[in-house]
Amino acid sequence: DQVPVQSHSSDQSPVQTTGDIVKGPRAKAAFITLARNNDVWEIAHSIKQVEDRFNRKFHYDWVFLNDKPFDDHFKRVTKNLVSGEAKFGLIPKEHWSFPDWIDQDRAAKVRDEMRANNVIYGDSVSYRHMCRFESGFFFKHELLKPYDYYWRVEPGIKLFCDVDYDPFLFMKDNNKKYGFTLSLKEYEATIPTLWKTIKDFIKEHPEYLAQDNSMGFVSEDSGHSYNLCHFWSNFEIGDLNFWRSKAYNDYFDYLDKAGGFFYERWGDAPVHSIAAALFLPRNQIHFFNDIAYWHNPFTHCPTTEADRMKGKCSCNPGDNFDWKDYSCTSKFFEINGYEKPEGYQNQQ
Ligand code: GDP
Ligand code: MN
Repeated sequence: DQVPVQSHSSDQSPVQTTGDIVKGPRAKAAFITLARNNDVWEIAHSIKQVEDRFNRKFHYDWVFLNDKPFDDHFKRVTKNLVSGEAKFGLIPKEHWSFPDWIDQDRAAKVRDEMRANNVIYGDSVSYRHMCRFESGFFFKHELLKPYDYYWRVEPGIKLFCDVDYDPFLFMKDNNKKYGFTLSLKEYEATIPTLWKTIKDFIKEHPEYLAQDNSMGFVSEDSGHSYNLCHFWSNFEIGDLNFWRSKAYNDYFDYLDKAGGFFYERWGDAPVHSIAAALFLPRNQIHFFNDIAYWHNPFTHCPTTEADRMKGKCSCNPGDNFDWKDYSCTSKFFEINGYEKPEGYQNQQ
């Protein structure tokens, strides 16, 4: 039997910080990291980035999840870096395995074909479990029950600017449900039938489409075809209750039944992004311009010098991906009628 809660630290020693702890209300929120034991040093780096730039002043909890038990070393190293409570959870088997309706031979054949075609992670079983878990299950984990908001943090990321306000409270106070820093186009070979499957689902459930949704972000032809745009989900600040909604769970179950997590290589980024684009009104999706972020190989760095100065940013604006061809952030600005920041042309 799986034990979902491995350990709970309740005996945190007083936290050493160089700055003052920000007084005032907190959201019910936590950082969430999915990781393996051998990700320990990469995630240690990420935690330090997040703590130095933000959490040392806020002390939010950090939930670590793994399909295998975390070892003591992983727990010791990470817990020591987190200023809030660190919690370590095991993922239940049903959330990290092949559903019984999946034809194993067909799935294996697809992996062979994708290996031959050099599709990134195309031959990986574990990557598929990861994408399916992030798509449909992370928000159901028992350790996340106390929380309404989350910030997803992956191993090996960088933050380049101070975050001097509470992004979780920002989400709550402004009724935002999904926040991103980077967007781009998906590899078509990983999702050949995703859009058709979603269209079939919408035909069954037209009531789930939000009024004033972001269809224009994901489609150039009013929903006929997918333009491959998605929010890059290795960074997300979001409302867990959106993923817990009936609309989203009906959607995920429909996709899961269709089998594309295994017969193709559907990523959690397009799965999350298309749901956010279609089921949320536009004004509930937020671009976190002030959170400068790097995950290999892309950087979000605020476009204007004024914003970079304000955040004491250390990123090179020449590295900013926002206005490049392969980014979809221009499209996000256009469908929302936002004015692009001064100087964006110089970063195209
Ligand atoms: P990429 O960002 O798409 O290149 O993929 P990553 O290798 O960064 O994986 C995405 C996230 O899932 C990271 O947080 C990884 O630590 C985590 N992850 C990937 N595969 C596994 C796995 O097999 N087990 C666990 N526990 N975590 C995984
Ligand atoms: Mn990653």
